[in-house]
Amino acid sequence: ATPISTMIGIGKAAELGVLIRNGDALQRASEITTLVLDKTGTLTQGRPDVVELELAESAESRQVLNLIHGLEKNSQHPLAAALNRYCDSQGVEPLDVQGFETLDGLGVRARTEAGESVLLGNRRLMQQQGIDLSPMAGVEQRWQQQAWTQVYLAYQGQLLAMVAITDPLREDAAPALQRLHRQGVKLVMLTGDNSASAEAVSQQLGIDEFQAELLPQHKLDYVAQLQQRGEVVAMVGDGINDAPALSLADVSFAIGSGTDVAIESADVALMHDSLDGLADAVELSRATLTNIR
Ligand code: ADP
Ligand code: MG
Repeated sequence: ATPISTMIGIGKAAELGVLIRNGDALQRASEITTLVLDKTGTLTQGRPDVVELELAESAESRQVLNLIHGLEKNSQHPLAAALNRYCDSQGVEPLDVQGFETLDGLGVRARTEAGESVLLGNRRLMQQQGIDLSPMAGVEQRWQQQAWTQVYLAYQGQLLAMVAITDPLREDAAPALQRLHRQGVKLVMLTGDNSASAEAVSQQLGIDEFQAELLPQHKLDYVAQLQQRGEVVAMVGDGINDAPALSLADVSFAIGSGTDVAIESADVALMHDSLDGLADAVELSRATLTNIR
């Protein structure tokens, strides 16, 4: 593209709140064949809510919420916000914890002041840490039919509670993805969440392909595989656990609600916190690049 047409293309996109970093990014955006989407906070509103809390036999609800709040007050994850809000609504104070750690794609971990271990996260995390889930197998089975995100709490190596969380889809997700389909872009969803929840979302939105229970490394590998198949891969995520995959993608998108780092390093930043900007970017970049050929 000539410098002038590139400038005009980037300028038009900016009017729609689609900030394209430079001419190179505009060029690559015009060539996108596959779009990889993160689920939580990207396809969903990222304003999840707690729907159910199930306690193990020995557990007591204030103690459970006290632990959960103590861990999640340190986390930036969208699920943490839901859990913190729920604890607040129940009038439960956060416990003081030490050695807080985020385990990307899995959950969080810390110790109480007395040195007891507390673990909160998904099934994969519990299995990895050897937590026996059988005491709550019935709950798991019942919840499996729902598209809920399931979070497990373990204390001193014992399963103490399970929390079910729902995160409604963004209202603009379905129409925005339909537009991308009409542009011939293949849609792939990669998520760290469980496969029941991933399948429900992917069916509702007409996603072509999805992979669930992924760690950040798996997301990276998947983007690499798509590129090896000859796809020009764009990716949109919030940067919470998909930063490596985002940086490998040919075109990285960040939405307004993403982390600062994701927005600063993105090839295209969507300022309006709407997925419509994805199709706008494809449309405008193609129009700019084909006009001058
Ligand atoms: P996604 O790929 O959909 O954005 P993530 O990789 O961020 O999902 O998270 C994957 C799963 O890890 C979540 O569904 C949740 O079960 C668990 N998890 C991650 N962070 C937290 C947290 N702070 N608290 C509880 N669970 C978490
Ligand atoms: Mg995420």
